[in-house]
Amino acid sequence: MRAGLFGGTFNPIHLGHLRAAEEISEALDLERMVFIPANIPPHKEGHELAAPPVRERCVLAAISENPRFELSRVELERGGPSYSIDTIKRFIKEHPGDEFWFVVGEDAFSEIDSWYKYKELFSLVNIAVMSRPPGIRAHLLPRALEGEFLAEEWGYVHSSGKAVRFVSVTPLDISSTAIREAIREGRSIRYLVPETVREILEKEGHFGPGELND
Ligand code: ATP
Ligand code: MG
Repeated sequence: MRAGLFGGTFNPIHLGHLRAAEEISEALDLERMVFIPANIPPHKEGHELAAPPVRERCVLAAISENPRFELSRVELERGGPSYSIDTIKRFIKEHPGDEFWFVVGEDAFSEIDSWYKYKELFSLVNIAVMSRPPGIRAHLLPRALEGEFLAEEWGYVHSSGKAVRFVSVTPLDISSTAIREAIREGRSIRYLVPETVREILEKEGHFGPGELND
């Protein structure tokens, strides 16, 4: 089986994530796309972070209509900071015959050399890098690893045989940061998130002016 592993803070999940996941699934012919909310994202500790059950419920509400999308609680259940390498190893161990694609936006990919054990990532799993506005980031590999890749039209092949593939998706300039800001300022988030997610956030008052989010 070909599966995508889509990690993120999902604080909250939005239509930018969902549309990108749909297009990546189509482009790479993935049968499953696994959304994996981070427990504590190593790069964003304590920054307006909604509680894991809230972020998890929003992901579930957002993906429920799509039979190929699923949620994994592996990072939430592991607790502590969430390192992608640990998560990927776990999926590979549990489904040794599957072909995995780790899915990241180009903003995240451009900082991948700051991730825990990032060098190992490239020999462990295929990586699909999706475009994201403003799109300023070139398709840059970490400098320290440049010699380990061969360039192809669609991306790079690592000496391990794993791929780094760049996929252009419909540019939707939506971010969780902008959504949190809109809620804080009392502005609408309609059409930035699925209606079911908007209902959860608005009814329960997450990210609102009175809410302590960290
Ligand atoms: P924040 O503003 O809090 O950082 P975010 O919108 O960037 O939130 P994340 O949970 O950080 O959302 O993103 C998870 C993954 O999804 C990252 O790899 C990110 O690059 C990618 N991503 C997020 N939004 C988009 C988008 N609009 N288009 C393409 N990729 C996206
Ligand atoms: Mg982000």
